[in-house]
Amino acid sequence: MLVLRLLNVVAPAYFLCISLVTFVLQIFVFIPSMFRDPSTTSLFSPALLHGALFLFLSANALGNYVLVIQSSPEDLGKDLHLGKGAEVADWLDGSRSPGSALPSTHFCRLCARVTQRHDHHCFFTGNCIGSRNMRNFIMFCLYTSLACLDSLVAGMAYISATLSMSFADPLAFLTLLPHSISQFFSGALLSSEMFVILMLYLWLGIGLACAGFCCHQMLLILRGQTRYQVRKGIVVRARPWRENLQEVFGKKWLLGLLIPMQNMESSYRRQKEK
Ligand SMILES: [Zn+2]
Repeated sequence: MLVLRLLNVVAPAYFLCISLVTFVLQIFVFIPSMFRDPSTTSLFSPALLHGALFLFLSANALGNYVLVIQSSPEDLGKDLHLGKGAEVADWLDGSRSPGSALPSTHFCRLCARVTQRHDHHCFFTGNCIGSRNMRNFIMFCLYTSLACLDSLVAGMAYISATLSMSFADPLAFLTLLPHSISQFFSGALLSSEMFVILMLYLWLGIGLACAGFCCHQMLLILRGQTRYQVRKGIVVRARPWRENLQEVFGKKWLLGLLIPMQNMESSYRRQKEK
């Protein structure tokens, strides 16, 4: 439990550090280096377009990150107020299995909260993912993946211009790391360039991991399942995939794709309004 609590603090700090480093590299290193190209003088220069694209991706990733935390599962105090105090106390004691009293809810010991339609506990946001914040979580994964892959391409362009090397050969990316480590220790490579090369591999890793996670999560949403239900082997009532999608993304899904916003039509909010 102590390890999990530590991870709950370290993972968000790790995410924010990587975001800050990526932002600084893009704004102060990669984009200014694109302006050095004499062909980039027009208003719609590739450097400006790239800068706008990166700002759009990172604003969506960070906006949805904040919304995942803001729309975190309902507070334990509210359930106590609603007269579910005994159940919550049992969960805290461990004498009752979580989720047994209220169907499709789960008590998370790390958050000390009850989640409706619990999916999993995300360590990078330090919060549980449930019906309230699922859409923002998917958007966060999608835009983090896109921002990482965008930074990877910009970083590769910077390295290829700085070190006068080409990435046309697919093996060039694989041999870049061992080659640059040997160059770095022989003093032929600056530490700033070595840092950018290490970041290229980190962006590739995070970008692919987030894209894979996003695809898997979308598959579960289409089936109307949560990660928690899959883990516990809970059988769900079959529903058309369109209904399952609308449950998570709402009717204003297109707007939610472009700007970070909460899903006001989630079942939790509808129940609350009743
Ligand atoms: Zn949790």
